[in-house]
Amino acid sequence: MSPTHHHQPARNILVAGPCAAESREQIMFSLERAKQHGVDYVRVSLWKPRTKPGFDGLKEDGIELLAEAAQMGLNPGTEILVPSQAQSVMDGVLPSLQKNGELLLWIGARNQNHYVQQEIARVAAQDSRVKLMLKNQPWHSESHWEGIVDHALEGGMKMENLILCHRGFTPDVHHPNPSGLRNVADSEMAMRIREKTGLPMLLDISHVAGAVDKLEEVAMDTVEYNYDGMVIEVHPNPRFAWTDASQQITWEELTALMGKLDAARAVQQKEALLA
Ligand code: PEP
Ligand code: MN
Repeated sequence: MSPTHHHQPARNILVAGPCAAESREQIMFSLERAKQHGVDYVRVSLWKPRTKPGFDGLKEDGIELLAEAAQMGLNPGTEILVPSQAQSVMDGVLPSLQKNGELLLWIGARNQNHYVQQEIARVAAQDSRVKLMLKNQPWHSESHWEGIVDHALEGGMKMENLILCHRGFTPDVHHPNPSGLRNVADSEMAMRIREKTGLPMLLDISHVAGAVDKLEEVAMDTVEYNYDGMVIEVHPNPRFAWTDASQQITWEELTALMGKLDAARAVQQKEALLA
């Protein structure tokens, strides 16, 4: 399949860090590595939607960890579920941002109440240093996905402060899933939405793959489709992660994966020149 989506140069945004913030030690280790790695945004996610009750995040207690990330010159990011969480994170983190620093907030796949989406956007829109990332809903629908963008705009977000992220759709009988992925990406749809909105489109390779041994295959789609970057879960000790242990990798493994993607991108560029 030859990529046909090269109208815009890809932006190569990297969002990396653990699925969930678990402890100060885990986050401090992650921040050091994120800094060495030069990630664009480090995941320090404080509120975790869970299928069944269990560990669901450090919540407000973890806000100081995002502030410390900001003090280190990193751009921290977390999912927020409701507008008051967006406000608390902004109040706690924005004063610590360094020059040109940004705070990333995102609306996760399971958060599909349009009222909540608009109200979160209204809070995030108060400060231009806040980027709002919108993930697609779990079910396969292009119009619903477009609607999430419309709701964020309705809430007052500026286009330049929005980022989109495809995390695949829940597998169903209508969409083949030969590799047994956790969620099935529809990259053609993602690229249509990128084209229509002009917004950067990332691929959350961790929540698509669902397992470490499938991560590389999914990551190659970011090259094939020329995504604007990716979200990846990276944990100091993945086997003992409190959430999503099966899909997280170490920072060393991230370095190796990025090397493979760079090599694939170089081959792609060479082929484009010869074509
Ligand atoms: C996440 O990114 O932490 C997450 C819960 O993913 P999703 O909302 O895509 O399920
Ligand atoms: Mn996760």
